[in-house]
Amino acid sequence: MTKTEDLPKIVDKAREAQKGWAGLSPKERSRFILKAKDYLVAHQEEVAQTISQETGKPPIEALVNEVAVILDAMTYYGRRAEKFLRTEKTPLHSPILALTKKAYTAWEPVGVVAVIGPWNYPFSLALYPAFCALLAGNAVILKPSSLTPKVSLKIREIFADLGLPEGLFEVIIASGGIGQTLIESDVNKIHFTGSVDTGRRVADAAAKKLTPVILELGGSDPMIILEDANLERAANALCWGRFSNAGQTCIAPKRVFVAQSQAQKFKEILKTKIQACRLKPAASSNGNQYELGPLINEEQLAETKRQLDAALADGAKILQGGERRAQDFPLFAPTVVETQNQNINLLQEETFGPLLPIMTFKTEDEAIRLANNSNFGLAASIFSRDKGRALTLAKSLEAGSVLINDVLANFAATELPFGGIKQSGLGFSHGGAEGLRSFCRPKSILADRWGLKSELYWFPYSEGKYKFFAKLFKLLYGKFSFWG
Ligand code: NDP
Repeated sequence: MTKTEDLPKIVDKAREAQKGWAGLSPKERSRFILKAKDYLVAHQEEVAQTISQETGKPPIEALVNEVAVILDAMTYYGRRAEKFLRTEKTPLHSPILALTKKAYTAWEPVGVVAVIGPWNYPFSLALYPAFCALLAGNAVILKPSSLTPKVSLKIREIFADLGLPEGLFEVIIASGGIGQTLIESDVNKIHFTGSVDTGRRVADAAAKKLTPVILELGGSDPMIILEDANLERAANALCWGRFSNAGQTCIAPKRVFVAQSQAQKFKEILKTKIQACRLKPAASSNGNQYELGPLINEEQLAETKRQLDAALADGAKILQGGERRAQDFPLFAPTVVETQNQNINLLQEETFGPLLPIMTFKTEDEAIRLANNSNFGLAASIFSRDKGRALTLAKSLEAGSVLINDVLANFAATELPFGGIKQSGLGFSHGGAEGLRSFCRPKSILADRWGLKSELYWFPYSEGKYKFFAKLFKLLYGKFSFWG
């Protein structure tokens, strides 16, 4: 267990180790990440079982949604780090500069990065930013959720025997509270994934030291089902997207708006899909014979129940579920409620349990208005057979990502930027080269080409020079300019 009073020493040690690590080329650093990937391939099932035992999700979900995402991202970035972090020759458009200078952009590590992760995807959401920050040349202090210490130990194990410089990658395993001390310490960047409330505290502490911060926060993602949607696919996607991980997924569809003409049919199809979901039969069962596991703890179940009760008090009607399903562990039935009141709590707060409010709409404009009526803006999805129409609508949605006829898959697409707008976050990660460069400082390098004694615009000034420049700028930037 890490003690809070040890943190300053951990940060100092990380800073020392980072100097040598930053001196390695991206290709040399990649070798370590690819070795970690190989270790993870060899131990993938063991890691998936640990995630499953600690969180309650089925092992297959841990394997596909957590372990495989990291394997793929490590492969992608491990093989491309050299290209993404190479110093780039930067073309200059200004004729005066283009003729006389050469320009470069270099990507340098920021130093020591603090990564703070949540409990819902305790492996992937902690490890993804951590290994990207390492690959970019930084030291990393990773503080995963205190609710999942065994998963944190697995992360530590993966990096233990790679021969990394001592202190370069520290995984903090501690009971709650150490995160605040970490963000107040002398780190150079913070990557935080968690709730909006904690995110605000992190941003506040970071502002005091002007430490740059990336925040991946909560979501209340809308799903719009248009009248021409493939209802079977929409229902399967919704059932899996909303209820996998027992509904505790940041980018799950949490508010559904379905075209009124299709609503009845859609609800019937959805009902059969949900009825086919098996709930975890006993706290101790570890196989893949169930789709829905328990919530992370009793507090999360109590919060889910509180949110449902408040919605019912505001007139929402239960279509399905609504009750606890086991006495000895926090299992809650997948629950669908119907409402036409867009102001009820389930449509305004983030829900982090198996709750799903459904509302109908009459026109596309109404659907967009309802979808955008939220303080969150993480992801959104649209279901329609007309992909052109869906693409046009996608542009009107206030969200960091929009999926068409799909759910959740954007997180696995390493080439796409991932992040939220409004209260869902600040900054983006992943997104091809940006996934590594977001842990770097860009450095501009400008070099003179010709070695002349002086430049025309340097001292001494004269009326002649002034007139020459005035004519030149008219030529370059005037109406008939050919440059730009
Ligand atoms: P929390 O905000 O409660 O905790 C997240 C992490 O922050 C934990 O490691 C926690 O440590 C730590 N922490 C707590 N207090 C502080 C503090 N004052 N300073 C620094 N760190 C602190 O979130 P949850 O773990 O409950 O995660 C669920 C939330 O995360 C949901 O809102 C969900 O939507 C969001 N999320 C967002 C994602 C995204 O990519 N946008 C992805 C996944 C989840 P400790 O365990 O010690 O309390």
